[in-house]
Amino acid sequence: MGVVRVLAIADAVSPVVYSENFPGNLPPFDVALSAGDMPGHVLEFIATKTRTPPVYVIGNHANAYLRGEDPDEARLPGGCINAHRRVVRVAGLIVAGFDGSARYRPGPHQYAQATYHAMHAGMTPQLLWHRARYGRAVDVLLTHAAPVGPQAGDDWPHRGVGAFNRFHARWRPQVHVHGHVHLSGANASRSYVTAHGVRVVNAFEFTLFEITVP
Ligand SMILES: [Zn+2]
Repeated sequence: MGVVRVLAIADAVSPVVYSENFPGNLPPFDVALSAGDMPGHVLEFIATKTRTPPVYVIGNHANAYLRGEDPDEARLPGGCINAHRRVVRVAGLIVAGFDGSARYRPGPHQYAQATYHAMHAGMTPQLLWHRARYGRAVDVLLTHAAPVGPQAGDDWPHRGVGAFNRFHARWRPQVHVHGHVHLSGANASRSYVTAHGVRVVNAFEFTLFEITVP
């Protein structure tokens, strides 16, 4: 048993995170999880300031890419772990990820709901392997878009992804960290618990939480 302390970020760069005092200006954490639409240079900044590589997924705005010396060549942030369609173990935490959002216009990192279902099905071997190896398939589901439910948006681009709800039912992660839907207003809720016992956390800007793993 161990407690893993998580810094979760998404969508908007908080001056608390992108600060010369980071990470000493925050309570200690073991790993940073980025739920998308976080600029690549901010992910690299976090990677240089932390011992454990940040784990991220790309959002629909795809601003994680960095320009190299050749302006035609985009690269992904260095020193970070891209969790899209992967199950990764970092700081004792098993994380499964899906990037992008439900499709609303042509472009990369947007998927039809059927494509999300297919990507979910494609994760089965990795999840079964982790279950056999560690006694549990996954601790955290990390996505950019929200599942269907109270934190999905009312508008078409921000609608929930049903495959994530199926993921909850089948694999029972303790926590689902997502972004994409901006929190606004004094009463915007940061998290809720689903009927399957999954704590769904909107990581907009940043939030800290703890998770106890076996
Ligand atoms: Zn988004």
